Amino acid sequence: MKTNDQKNISLLGFLFDKKSSFLKGSAEAPPLIRESLSSYAVNSFAENGIDIRDKRIIDRGDFAIKDLFEIEKIVSGFLEAGEKVLSLGGDHSISYPVIKAYHKYYSSIEIIHIDAHPDLYDELDGDKFSHACPFARIMEEKLAVRLVQIGIRTLNPHQREQAERFGSEIIEMKNFSSDKIPSFKTPVYISIDLDGIDPAFAPGVSHHEPGGLTSREVINIIGNIDVPVIGADIVEFNPARDTNGITAALAAKLTKEILSKMIITDK
Ligand code: MN
Ligand code: MN
Repeated sequence: MKTNDQKNISLLGFLFDKKSSFLKGSAEAPPLIRESLSSYAVNSFAENGIDIRDKRIIDRGDFAIKDLFEIEKIVSGFLEAGEKVLSLGGDHSISYPVIKAYHKYYSSIEIIHIDAHPDLYDELDGDKFSHACPFARIMEEKLAVRLVQIGIRTLNPHQREQAERFGSEIIEMKNFSSDKIPSFKTPVYISIDLDGIDPAFAPGVSHHEPGGLTSREVINIIGNIDVPVIGADIVEFNPARDTNGITAALAAKLTKEILSKMIITDK
């Protein structure tokens, strides 16, 4: 039952990989994630019992993006209409304009960021909006009050410095255990770069970084969140690198788990 103060959730795809530094391909991801999500091979129930055929979830289709900053306008439109947004990438650069839009509507956002990489570069290849930089821009502009980065296993001295400067809380993969995930106080935005998950579970990414999270660990991180989830993105799926649709299936599973969490934590 939808009551008046419950928000609809828009599911969007961003066909955009111009800010990907090493390989292109993630612009092709959203339709394949949708296909896996609606496949007859799976049902529509998340592990918490929510059916994602719920009327509050509205598929808005995919947006062909030419310029990264178009994304802020698109997301602002849905937030302005009182909706929450789950976006499918696309490369990780999309998180910056998405969260820039969120900042206008939510004064206090905590971010849970799952990734092999902290994406805190001041710039990469001369580009401040590279997919290696979104969290530097977000924290510089104080678009979030807290950044918790989980699964990180590629820190270099520059990125360590940046993390310190921004007060980012990094749970490095080498120290990871599920009981180290902090609790959250304010609404949470979840950003999942699929390369945070071990390439054994998610081969379809541009940057293979062995030694990552299991699918189960990520599902449990989502499942254990007990504050409202106001938005999310799932990025960096590169279909050209996938094997038998295994990464598409994982992206679809995470989409389902996050959508259901957005519903169950809504007031
Ligand atoms: Mn990454
Ligand atoms: Mn990333």
